Amino acid sequence: MAEVLQTILNAFKEATSSFDEAYWINKDRSASFPSEYLSKLRELELTAMLLPQSLGGAGLSLYDYLKLVRLSSSMHGVEAGDLLMAYNVFGSLVISNLKSEKLAEKFSKLLIEGVANPCVAITEPQAGVDTFSISTQAEYKNGEYTIRGKKIWITMAANSRLMTVLCRTSKNQKRSFGLTAFVLDPSEHKEVKFSRINDIALRSLGSYEVFFDDVKVGEEAILGERDKGWEAITRVLNAERLSTAAIACGVSDLLLKKATWYASNRVVFGRPIGSNQAIQFPLALCKACVEAAWRLVIEGAKKFEKGENAAFEANASALLASKTAYEVSDIAMQVFGGMSFAVETGIELHWRNARLLRVGPVPEQMALSFIAHNVLGLPRSF
Ligand SMILES: Cc1cc2nc3c(=O)[nH]c(=O)nc-3n(C[C@H](O)[C@H](O)[C@H](O)COP(=O)(O)OP(=O)(O)OC[C@H]3O[C@@H](n4cnc5c(N)ncnc54)[C@H](O)[C@@H]3O)c2cc1C
Repeated sequence: MAEVLQTILNAFKEATSSFDEAYWINKDRSASFPSEYLSKLRELELTAMLLPQSLGGAGLSLYDYLKLVRLSSSMHGVEAGDLLMAYNVFGSLVISNLKSEKLAEKFSKLLIEGVANPCVAITEPQAGVDTFSISTQAEYKNGEYTIRGKKIWITMAANSRLMTVLCRTSKNQKRSFGLTAFVLDPSEHKEVKFSRINDIALRSLGSYEVFFDDVKVGEEAILGERDKGWEAITRVLNAERLSTAAIACGVSDLLLKKATWYASNRVVFGRPIGSNQAIQFPLALCKACVEAAWRLVIEGAKKFEKGENAAFEANASALLASKTAYEVSDIAMQVFGGMSFAVETGIELHWRNARLLRVGPVPEQMALSFIAHNVLGLPRSF
């Protein structure tokens, strides 16, 4: 299996090396979708890595996939890793949990063809991180559900043909009960409307406000069980958090490499700036933090594969890796000095995207609250 993984990583390196810094800077500046890069992922059969072979996927392990995510972000940055995450977590993992064989086959085909652009729509303008207070409703009548409400910050939504949307289906004292996740192809519902946000992160992928104006879906569109959507989506969100950590480790690798190169070559006061410990130590500390966070990712992947609860590793690795990625990006800004403010130096793009990782998909405070409440057993703060 290790040989298979190495072959995949080598093939990826070779096939995507032409997607250079200029490519990603141009996509960011023009806010245009990296469709050429996605075509390459499809050619390499990397859009359905976690999909079972019975559905036409590669049936690889989460660990193998996470190794590729780190590599992709170490070569191309946050957006490249995010695209892999969307296909393999919001795509493969969602599809493999659908009860309807017909829907699973339909979405698998879109995934393998590289046209699914999967997204997950949870965040709402009012509810914010208090997910259990979402107000998007799905009302059941005569064998179908009508979805009504609004989501915000949904990445790739307007290009998506596989959207998982979390709705309130009933009210219960236990707030996590009564949520249901529905899976739909927005291109088949003219009642789903989008408005692009003028964003400063993930600009090539794009994030949107999404409006659901009485969107009708059948019972087969339910992911998991009615009212137990939180249970169904938690496994997906844990895999997303491990992916976020892998992306953060990858972009840290990229920035450490760039900063090390510049610090070794930029001569001021007659010697490379990197010969000063004030430059060396922060970079060395970040390298140590990246590798520590990566070990948590591996631990989480092992638990996930065994069907164990990987929530601690998912939250802790996302927290530490994201903090580190932003720290590295900020240090890189300092190391490159004035040059970091020139777009073509290729630092500020990663600085903006790394900053996002501290806010989404899981804000630092929410990861810390999870650990405080569920791991340490401290009294709940909300
Ligand atoms: C570029 C981008 C892409 C995104 N993509 C998606 C997507 O595809 N799908 C999706 O569903 N969402 C997406 N999001 C949303 C993202 O997950 C949320 O923005 C994030 O979870 C924070 O939610 P909020 O902005 O509503 O924060 P708010 O709920 O408004 O909170 C604001 C801040 O206060 C903090 N806070 C809140 N309560 C407490 C407390 N009790 N104690 C301490 N601190 C607290 C929060 O952690 C946060 O930092 C995206 C966001 C961005 C910016």
